[in-house]
Amino acid sequence: MENRDLNALAARAADLIVGSQKLVVFTGAGISTESGIPDFRSPGGIWERFDPDDFTIDKFRSSPDSRRKQWRILKEGLLTDKAAPNAAHIAVAELYRMGKLDCVITQNIDNLHQKAGVPDDRVFELHGNMQFVLCLDCGRRYPLGDIKPRLDRGEEIPDCLECRGMLKPDIVMFGEQLPYDVLQEAGRRAMASDLFIVIGSTLVVYPAAFMPLYAVEAGAGLIIVNLSATPMDDRAAVVIRAKAGEAMSAVVAGVKERLGR
Ligand code: NAD
Ligand code: ZN
Repeated sequence: MENRDLNALAARAADLIVGSQKLVVFTGAGISTESGIPDFRSPGGIWERFDPDDFTIDKFRSSPDSRRKQWRILKEGLLTDKAAPNAAHIAVAELYRMGKLDCVITQNIDNLHQKAGVPDDRVFELHGNMQFVLCLDCGRRYPLGDIKPRLDRGEEIPDCLECRGMLKPDIVMFGEQLPYDVLQEAGRRAMASDLFIVIGSTLVVYPAAFMPLYAVEAGAGLIIVNLSATPMDDRAAVVIRAKAGEAMSAVVAGVKERLGR
């Protein structure tokens, strides 16, 4: 995108943000690709390397082979505490610090919004958080740091330190329900928002993709920042087809300018 075009769109987005009272930001894997975490659907994304059928909860529960495979894939890819927030996460956290952000609703499991400075209770994680591991038998929840060293030492299928039960990363696998309370509260806040910004999501994974629909149906303005087209583009007041880091930095610079910060 030409700089001139980006600046004009960022200015329109900044105007909308300055005028809003309840801003909700909704993010997908695309906000984290600039932090080195691949998304699922882009060229080079995770679905080109792995079969989604291997990631179901049924397979995880029933087959040690599948558990071994999933832990290995997770260890190689998403199971990292090394990734750092990028300019887009930082821009969103700045909106929070300026008092302009109600909450973040995210499909991501990478914890990067919190790392950038959005408080835990303002981040609604629809698909869980990779920084935790859950025991399916006794319910104990471990920080990833308690388990990761065992994987790094070569343990293929870690078990619960407490009860020897089955451990699972605390993320929503295919075939699993989304966490009910989180989904309810996120939906409520989407409906109560007056401005809703989508960053880095194809908006095709449901029920997460209902969130922008709830917002727009309830009268909120919509801004979409995404490299590729989404099914909601024609309902948006502003569509910025650029990298999230660059786009959100420009948008937040515009907000600061307008608020005299
Ligand atoms: P997706 O892979 O379906 O879509 C990502 C979207 O982001 C694409 O439309 C792509 O064009 C866009 N994109 C990629 N890089 C971008 C950039 N730098 N700037 C702007 N846009 C960019 O992702 P999804 O819709 O979020 O759904 C996939 C599911 O996979 C999610 O529900 C999530 O739970 C999970 N996931 C999470 C992570 C993570 O936590 N970082 C990573 C991969 C997948
Ligand atoms: Zn246990």
